[in-house]
Amino acid sequence: MAIRNIREIGDAVLNKKCKEVKEMTPRIKALIDDMLETMYDACGVGLAAPQVGILKRIVVIDVTGENPYVMINPRILETAGEQTGHEGCLSVPGKSGIVTRPNYVKAVAYNENMELYEIEGTELLARAICHELDHLEGNLYVDKVEGRLMDVSDIEEDE
Ligand code: ZN
Repeated sequence: MAIRNIREIGDAVLNKKCKEVKEMTPRIKALIDDMLETMYDACGVGLAAPQVGILKRIVVIDVTGENPYVMINPRILETAGEQTGHEGCLSVPGKSGIVTRPNYVKAVAYNENMELYEIEGTELLARAICHELDHLEGNLYVDKVEGRLMDVSDIEEDE
């Protein structure tokens, strides 16, 4: 396993649409392991393949630090409700903004063994699924921010 370099806003790779994964290969397995290690190292709750420069439809999410989800070719099946709150991104370091997302998400994806599974989440998990899937379309949360993109240091002073 290895920690990969996280691409930052302004890097064109973050604005490109990702391609479906057709089959699991040792290379993709290694990529997934690296993505998990990179996410934990950066203290993130999710990471999408384009954030490490790979245009494949793969995301990893772990909102508790002990329950990682690998989502390959993910698709949202259902959403409900609304939540409005702070969001950040490892590709936009030091920034945060208010984004409204569904409060409930049901999605389907393949795991690292290419087995199809369903995942349901509320609150932070629902937000993370929406945020990470946006990356696969080349979209960053900064375009959805309500009001101003803030410096994390300013927010800590306010609170
Ligand atoms: Zn992100």
